[in-house]
Amino acid sequence: MGFTNQQSNKQTATGSQNKQWQKFLDEFESEIGRRQFQVFGTLLEYERETEDKIIACVPKSFHKEWLTEKHGDALNNCFSKIYTDQKILDISVDNKDNGSLSSIKDQQEKDLQDVKRSFPFARNTDLNPGYTFDNFVVGSTNEYAYTAARAVAEDPTSYNPLFIYGGVGLGKTHLLQAIGHKIKQRWEQANVKYVSAEKFTNEIIQALMEKNQKEFKYRYRSTDLFLVDDIQFLAKTDRAQEEFFHTFNELYESGKGIVLCSDRPPHEISKIEERLRNRFEMGYTVDIKPPDYETRVAILQKKIQQSGIVVPQEVINIIASNVTSNIRVLEGCLNRLTVTASLSNNEITPDLARQKLSDYMDENRQAADKPVTIQQIQEATASQFNLSVNELKSKKRTRSIAFPRQLSMYLCRELTNSSYADIGEEFGGRDHSTVIHAENKIENKLDQQDSTVKTQLRQLKNEIYS
Ligand code: ADP
Ligand code: MG
Repeated sequence: MGFTNQQSNKQTATGSQNKQWQKFLDEFESEIGRRQFQVFGTLLEYERETEDKIIACVPKSFHKEWLTEKHGDALNNCFSKIYTDQKILDISVDNKDNGSLSSIKDQQEKDLQDVKRSFPFARNTDLNPGYTFDNFVVGSTNEYAYTAARAVAEDPTSYNPLFIYGGVGLGKTHLLQAIGHKIKQRWEQANVKYVSAEKFTNEIIQALMEKNQKEFKYRYRSTDLFLVDDIQFLAKTDRAQEEFFHTFNELYESGKGIVLCSDRPPHEISKIEERLRNRFEMGYTVDIKPPDYETRVAILQKKIQQSGIVVPQEVINIIASNVTSNIRVLEGCLNRLTVTASLSNNEITPDLARQKLSDYMDENRQAADKPVTIQQIQEATASQFNLSVNELKSKKRTRSIAFPRQLSMYLCRELTNSSYADIGEEFGGRDHSTVIHAENKIENKLDQQDSTVKTQLRQLKNEIYS
């Protein structure tokens, strides 16, 4: 493949030339997949041919780089498959303002704009639709964090960065995503990127392995609002910290908003380099504490109001006084009770609440400090699907085992604080990327409103918390 920057010199292709070119494009599309093809593959145009070359063109040098660096092998393979003779593919850049571009920086800026327009992930925000400010109950222990988050949603650089910290299940992720929703609501085109530090780390490792750091850089550095969850999980590796540092600086310097969440304040995150910690402390740091009794009651009331189920005040009080330090557990308790009542066609009375929930509340008073374990999730999954735990962990890949395994991995991410690597380890020493794949797969099904998967997950959770 050659590199030539020249003015467009299109010839009218003959019918058979067109046909062959189209065949090549089809082949290329099926080789790299539709999604990738639609990024910049559609820009490839037949220009002309000589004795030994087919000359194609793309609008910008960045398109050419993307095609040749990322899909060079696929291009060559497909090309030689269709053009069996001795021709080679030569991609030229149809860059009409090539000479007039004043600086490389302009070009980079243009490239970034292209990326924003063309990359599907630039529009993908990964936000949970329920995590909005409207659904967030404000009480004395979270009001500072809430107020700060609202301010960032008005002006993303209010504090730059805003750093929110607090224990498990206290609403950090909820607030972080609420900022994202609000910004998207006000400015639809905004590129809001929500990512956990762990996912960020894994993406860096992947980018290094696949040698596509360039795409990785564009992915994050074209962000308008950068929401980073569980920053304590940013890997200790130099590359992860280095890349994060650069991303942070670039976004900060170009006036983009940054919000970070963590289970502890910046100075207690020992794994993180001094220079990064200093950056984190540059803005405003605010904590969320466990909710007081009134807030717990208000949260339960809000959830009940949303679900439309009738629950007597006394029952609410029973739950609120027993589950004190984790809102996820508080919600779980209420769900458990409503499910039990609806299955047995019983009204939700204080007696039923005491009777059915005492075990659960006992367990979960501990669960507030000690989340569900991977083993519990594996056992519940195995029992629901009539498998053994060993089969779940085995290398077998038949659908009847692979699918429950994926559900189980997904739940491990949702209900425990384990990293991808830890979960992979517990499932027969699998790689972290297998767990990421499982999580994506189930998330896709949920995005498509797959009711079987929803029901299976609900049943599994009931089993886990029973
Ligand atoms: P964290 O990220 O701090 O571990 P999450 O944001 O995931 O906690 O919150 C756990 C659950 O509790 C979520 O379902 C969230 O919607 C809910 N939650 C937390 N705080 C509140 C609140 N103040 N009002 C309503 N729901 C809340
Ligand atoms: Mg969280």
